[in-house]
Amino acid sequence: MIKVVKFGGSSLASAEQFMKVKDIIVSDPDRRFVVPSAPGKRYSADTKVTDMLYSCYNLAETDADFDDTLKAIATRYQEIIDGLKLTVSLDSEFEKIKADFKAHAGREYAASRGEYLNGILLANYLGFEFLDSAEYIFFKENGTFDAEKTNDVLSAKLRGMSNAVIPGFYGSLPDGRVKTFSRGGSDITGSIVARAVQANLYENWTDVSGCLVTDPRIVENPKVIDVITYRELRELAYMGFNVLHEDAIFPVRTAGIPINIKNTNAPKDPGTLIVENTSRKPGFTITGVAGKKGFTAINIEKDMMNAEIGFCRRVLQAFEDNGISFEHMPSGIDTMTVVVHQSEFETKEQTVLAEIRKLTNPDSIDISTDIALLAVVGRGMRSNRGVAAKIFSALDRASINIRMIDQGSSELNIIIGVSNNDFEDAINVIYHAFVQ
Ligand code: ASP
Repeated sequence: MIKVVKFGGSSLASAEQFMKVKDIIVSDPDRRFVVPSAPGKRYSADTKVTDMLYSCYNLAETDADFDDTLKAIATRYQEIIDGLKLTVSLDSEFEKIKADFKAHAGREYAASRGEYLNGILLANYLGFEFLDSAEYIFFKENGTFDAEKTNDVLSAKLRGMSNAVIPGFYGSLPDGRVKTFSRGGSDITGSIVARAVQANLYENWTDVSGCLVTDPRIVENPKVIDVITYRELRELAYMGFNVLHEDAIFPVRTAGIPINIKNTNAPKDPGTLIVENTSRKPGFTITGVAGKKGFTAINIEKDMMNAEIGFCRRVLQAFEDNGISFEHMPSGIDTMTVVVHQSEFETKEQTVLAEIRKLTNPDSIDISTDIALLAVVGRGMRSNRGVAAKIFSALDRASINIRMIDQGSSELNIIIGVSNNDFEDAINVIYHAFVQ
């Protein structure tokens, strides 16, 4: 078995956290390839090293004095070195970083140093080999990730190694300059490494015991999802579920490697397993419920709409011409509704409405704003009758007015629109209708 283990920023924020990480790695010899993030927050008001690096580089870029900011970053690492009683020194690395910042080496290079330095420390502490991701993770000239070149070079390199630390978040462009993924991108590196070594499992270690059925800021102590499919995760992620960088799914999914979300602070907890397919039934019929506020619904009515070929296309044309993407489109016989992000729509509203009128000559157009959308997601809905009834009666009991319903033909989700003001209550009642 080969396991690739990625540790997030909070898992590597201090010497104490490094110790937990080492315990986790040595407790399972299959955990051979390790992808670290930069040191994250040690407590909620703390600053992530990546953010400190961005601020530091902002100063350097304007030729302002950045000595103190860089020293504060060096101190974060020194505290880890001292706490672990390591003999390694990062002094020469910081000399180089200082010179590179003075020479305006770039914002992405600056940010990448967080993972790079943490990788050096972790490799030293574990006694693993350190690989600089700039030499193994590649981007194309246009800035997109070069999956095939990376996979060729990285798999050839790792094949002969028994273990290694490969820092997350960055790689290099064809001209050698460092480039980073978007924020949270160490998840992507972990997934790329898992594909390269054809791992049996990609463990993504963080500070929660897996994906939660719903947002813990809305529902107190929600249950953990034991198994979730990639498609379910995608539906929930789209509605604001924030577990894993979206782009981290592709490399492992195509290679058929499951992801296990685990908690560094509670390593015995099973966490959440993310898989392509499963015969395991979700514990609560629904897998998760998530949502977002701030949508607008544009309802267009026209007698005999259903007989008019191309009506729908012309309505959508008005949105497309104005660069607005739509979220959902429930329709009736003589009505159709287009749901869009309020913030995107507001500024272009009059132009869009005028175009709809011109293109379709409707009987009426009506706008409802301040709508929140909830996605109730679960592969278990397909085989269970009465899911919709349970959702709607729960909302009814709580006197929450439903403003829109949309069920995809995949029967994987039901989308419900309620007023922004009812959003939190709606999430709560739906959660409690399924999770006892
Ligand atoms: N350190 C980077 C960030 O804060 C990448 C990561 O942690 O995944 O976004």
